[in-house]
Amino acid sequence: MPRDDSVKRRPPEISFGGRVLFLADDAELIRQQLHEGLNPQLTPDLKARLRDQISTDEITPAYICFFYDETLGDFPYLGLEVASGNGQKEAPIERGLVRAGGFVCSVAGKRRGKGSSREQSPYAELMAGIRVVVSESIERIYNENCQNLGILTTTDFGLIERIRSGEPISLSEFTAGTDDITRQIIEYGGLFEFNMARLQGQVTLPAPRRTPRPMTLGEKIFARKWVIDAAEGRIGTDHAEPGEAGFFRADIRFSHEYVTPMAAIFFEQKLGADAKVLDPDSILFFRDHLTFLHKVMSQERIEQGLLAVANELEVKQREFSEKQGIRLYGEQQGHVMGSEAICHSKILEDYAEPGMLIIGTDSHTPHAGAVGALAFGVGTTAIFNSWITKDVRARIPPSFKVVVDGTLPANCTAKDLMLEILRHPYVRDGHAIGQIIEYAGPVVERLSVDERATMTNMAAEVGAFTGLVAADDRTVEFLIQERGMDPAWAKAMVADVHSDPGAEYVKVIEIDASRLRPMVALPGDPGNGLYIDELAEPVPIEIAYAGSCTAGKKEDMDMYARVFREARDRWGRGVHPDVKCYIQCGSTDVREYAREQGYLDLFRAIGAEFIEPGCGACIAAGPGITRSPDQVSVSSQNRNFPGRSGPGQLYLVSPYSVAASAVAGRVVGWEPGPRRPHPFSESSVPPTPPGAPR
Ligand code: SF4
Repeated sequence: MPRDDSVKRRPPEISFGGRVLFLADDAELIRQQLHEGLNPQLTPDLKARLRDQISTDEITPAYICFFYDETLGDFPYLGLEVASGNGQKEAPIERGLVRAGGFVCSVAGKRRGKGSSREQSPYAELMAGIRVVVSESIERIYNENCQNLGILTTTDFGLIERIRSGEPISLSEFTAGTDDITRQIIEYGGLFEFNMARLQGQVTLPAPRRTPRPMTLGEKIFARKWVIDAAEGRIGTDHAEPGEAGFFRADIRFSHEYVTPMAAIFFEQKLGADAKVLDPDSILFFRDHLTFLHKVMSQERIEQGLLAVANELEVKQREFSEKQGIRLYGEQQGHVMGSEAICHSKILEDYAEPGMLIIGTDSHTPHAGAVGALAFGVGTTAIFNSWITKDVRARIPPSFKVVVDGTLPANCTAKDLMLEILRHPYVRDGHAIGQIIEYAGPVVERLSVDERATMTNMAAEVGAFTGLVAADDRTVEFLIQERGMDPAWAKAMVADVHSDPGAEYVKVIEIDASRLRPMVALPGDPGNGLYIDELAEPVPIEIAYAGSCTAGKKEDMDMYARVFREARDRWGRGVHPDVKCYIQCGSTDVREYAREQGYLDLFRAIGAEFIEPGCGACIAAGPGITRSPDQVSVSSQNRNFPGRSGPGQLYLVSPYSVAASAVAGRVVGWEPGPRRPHPFSESSVPPTPPGAPR
């Protein structure tokens, strides 16, 4: 319990009285505010010049997220790029200037807080003194993170002068239009304060409406996990529907080293150093994102002390896990470098079960939806609150269904399907944002759990709340083979983990897999998909990266090996001499599988470098990243946003295509069997005898 158990709402009126920072698309104006104490009035001209689309990457660039405490208050907006006098872009905000400026409010244009869900962004603002965020529109997760931390948000520009002058403003001006739970979170000054009041029975939560109706699988799991009465331990209701908000019991709560330390600090600050998490056995920590960072960080950044700061994340997470008795999948011991597992890989391999509700501090948490679990990403405040309450706040989203019919061609995979889905107008135009995707149809029914996980994992790229697949015979097979589960137990576990007949979907889209050909997403966005054979001209590559949570599973290893074996045995080829090829697995289990199958020898023989488990190149923190804007790489990972894997051009493809491209030296699909011309025919590599090491 908290040290101070008298939880109070904020007063009904609140005054600020401080400076207002206008984040204008004008470097000179920003400098004048920061260096010369200029306090501009909001004129129509200034309003028109406010920066739109400020992403969380700009508020706190990735390297700043190595910090996890109040130090973050030195850094808000360091990545913000705005117009300078010479027509170029520049980043005018330097370390410490916002905090030193006495600003209480920061103002921007449309879509503030887009991109990554990192809570470091609003926390950096809060620690710099910002108490109110005003913008024309505010992205959902960033807005929620602000509310969870106690930052007030509004789209009402009329409040700016009242904030500056210190005039009392009614709190209701900030809660208008919100749901019951959000309103109370704002009134209590944050999610933690609200939760304490909830545990003390001081708040009223909306009860489930319980309208009898057929439910989708996502709705069904929400209904079963609904916390009706936390004090009495009453969990579950018979019906739930989109739009209803509540708290839901989480079966598994996990986080990785980018987030755990900040969550641990919040936990200890709020509850005291000796406080204990609730049910540590269902909490998991992972050291996966930054295990290989030292191999790729620039000397300049190392000299700035950033590697030391990043390494502190590992230390803090490990210490907290030891103190709390929480299982940590950490670094491998001995001379072997790398992690024990990427979080998503391990959750699916060993933990996720049909019908579970799983939360993790990562956007690809839906990976576990491959076995029919409802798994979704949450922020720092939400995860540390779940350590206290074992539940999570959510508003039930609507579901949409993707039905995949026909027959998947032999050289296409779940990844090709996802790149096809990502370019579907419904998805591309943003209609699927925040919804639950249910993948179904004969092709999905035939896919293995590993391949299904590629699809649920990439629900993150769709912008969906989560993705899942109904549990079925394939799931039973997986539970028996991979977990050694008793068959009768496995069968019982999948019973009723599917949508009801007649369940409502806001949209059903149909994909004919028979028409699919190997896909590629052009650099910049996973939605930039086209068939590889539609590329206007050959795309030579320097790097081929085969790995990440999306493509570091056992079946992905099978696919890389199938192509490389064929290249070697049929065509006498290995990795193209102009290409550096990396294969990275998602866990030590996958590595051992690859070893047993003889893949490690094969990969070595054809000239690929095998890397121990970890995130790595996928987040610009390991071997396989590009080093300059003109470098071209091809990858089986999930996203290719600018800068995601270095400054170069990143093409996304399937596991088959990444291996075929590594051999061909350019982006190609795999053409299996005795077709002519063979897929590597335009390679400049002279044939080598089958089996010869390269
Ligand atoms: S492999 Fe990449 S996408 Fe997956 S969890 Fe790690 S950083 Fe995120």
